Amino acid sequence: MDTYDIIIIGGGVGGLACGITLASAHAKPWFQQRRVLVIDDGNSDLEKAQLFNVPGVTPGTTGTQALHTMRMQFQQYPTATLHTGHVCAAQRDGKHWNVHTSDDCAFKADVLVLATGYKRWELSGLPCEPQPHPRGGKSNRICLSHDGVYNVDQDLYVAGLLGGGSSQFAIAAGIGTQVAVELLSQWAGKRTHVHDVPEPTTS
Ligand SMILES: Cc1cc2nc3c(=O)[nH]c(=O)nc-3n(C[C@H](O)[C@H](O)[C@H](O)COP(=O)(O)OP(=O)(O)OC[C@H]3O[C@@H](n4cnc5c(N)ncnc54)[C@H](O)[C@@H]3O)c2cc1C
Repeated sequence: MDTYDIIIIGGGVGGLACGITLASAHAKPWFQQRRVLVIDDGNSDLEKAQLFNVPGVTPGTTGTQALHTMRMQFQQYPTATLHTGHVCAAQRDGKHWNVHTSDDCAFKADVLVLATGYKRWELSGLPCEPQPHPRGGKSNRICLSHDGVYNVDQDLYVAGLLGGGSSQFAIAAGIGTQVAVELLSQWAGKRTHVHDVPEPTTS
């Protein structure tokens, strides 16, 4: 069974934002070659969108293009792996999570992040159940209860709209990024974040 430090189920806006920020810390001394896996079955809401109001995204960019860019951003990091597949079950096994896909792949991780969007819940074995989404706009939208910073249970987090945010790209990405910062801060043993700056120019 392939083993990772973190598995993110769902590689849409929230899941990829979480994965990008986590993986972007790979050079920090406390990161210690941790491995991040995103598993996605290719049905992000973003595939239906054309973006004009997302801060920093060129107006007119299709959602498909934005997803492609985010997948590339994630995969630029040596610690990042993207797997295409549908997760059907995730169970706790002692200190680990065992994650199974419908095409019989199995993965193990210390920490699980659920970023499957606010429209469907097809995962068995988890110690949480979806609730009605307070900001979803429609009665069949779902979210998970958490502690305020997206911790659902021990070593279990929620990201993207499943965390309870309204349906905007920046909100879904922000929730995923906050989850990453919480996890990085645990690993660092202090509050942290990841900022990149340009290389100094020589003249
Ligand atoms: C038509 C439309 C237009 C939009 N336009 C805009 C806009 O102009 N501006 C804006 O800010 N926002 C817009 N949005 C909203 C934006 O797309 C969402 O806010 C964002 O996609 C939510 O991110 P998410 O990560 O929560 O969910 P998603 O992006 O939907 O990602 C969830 C991911 O989880 C995967 N998944 C689910 N279950 C499983 C499973 N069991 N196993 C593996 N993978 C799984 C799905 O395939 C998907 O990739 C639009 C949405 C729609 C529907």
